Amino acid sequence: MKCRKCGDTAVLELRRHNAAFCAPDFLEFFRNQVREAIRKYRMFTSDEPILVAVSGGKDSLALWDVLIGEGYRTTGLYLDLGIFDYSVESRAKCEAFAAAHGVPLLVRRVEEEVGAPVPVIKSVTRRPPCSGCGLSKRYLMNRVALDEGLPVVATGHNLDDEAATLFGSVMHWQMDALPRQSPALPSTHPKLVRRVKPLYRLSERETAAYAFLRKIDYIVEECPFAVGATSIAHKETLNRLEDASPGAKHNFLFGFLEKARPAFERAEAVELHECARCGQVTTGTLCAFCKLADQVKRSI
Ligand code: SF4
Ligand code: ZN
Repeated sequence: MKCRKCGDTAVLELRRHNAAFCAPDFLEFFRNQVREAIRKYRMFTSDEPILVAVSGGKDSLALWDVLIGEGYRTTGLYLDLGIFDYSVESRAKCEAFAAAHGVPLLVRRVEEEVGAPVPVIKSVTRRPPCSGCGLSKRYLMNRVALDEGLPVVATGHNLDDEAATLFGSVMHWQMDALPRQSPALPSTHPKLVRRVKPLYRLSERETAAYAFLRKIDYIVEECPFAVGATSIAHKETLNRLEDASPGAKHNFLFGFLEKARPAFERAEAVELHECARCGQVTTGTLCAFCKLADQVKRSI
């Protein structure tokens, strides 16, 4: 197997691109995909400071690594979910990465912000853990970015994550979710920062290869609550399709973004207000985060 670029021995074959690369050319291919994502969706300019949400996993640390290498001004944000050893270890990975690269890392604890860690929120709400966790993460990412004066939050969602989310939304015809499925969501209110996913063109296998070749020390274990999550089942289904037909995930996601998504954009924009309690954006009087915090407070 020879590298498509230089003819040297290849270390990685990318069937969906019908190509193989040596280590240096794969790293360059990876960075080019991130550059293309940023350019195509005008995610941020070279002088804008960026909040990078990091979980300690391969994707978000690979993203942070690329952005630092490209010369962007970045601040990391680690949200401590209070999920047993998983949170302790993933926080340590983020702190070590930030220290090694000399970049700032902010840490916020869900327990402090909501009143309880994710496992307790799960019991109190009697809903799947990912529900309260996802809500808290989205809320805190936005609020921290606003507090710190950072106009954009970048997350490490990759092609597999995005294809699986789209698959789930289509399976249930979630008409609210479909227009929001995008590598870049603009700010639609002064209190909402932009949200971007610069890795959306890269598969999970490719981010793992990048992290390995760059010797990034990341947490390999998944969150214990990920087991049994429907998103994992959707990923497995898509992986089977990909095995049978390389490029299937790419075609599914990119086809949606280019051909179908515009048809799902809502004709009328939803009216946004500021939450009566915390001032963050909501469609009602109290935002979902404040309601969750109330529910937690009442129960413990
Ligand atoms: Fe949170 Fe669920 Fe992800 Fe675990 S798997 S970090 S609970 S969203
Ligand atoms: Zn609120």
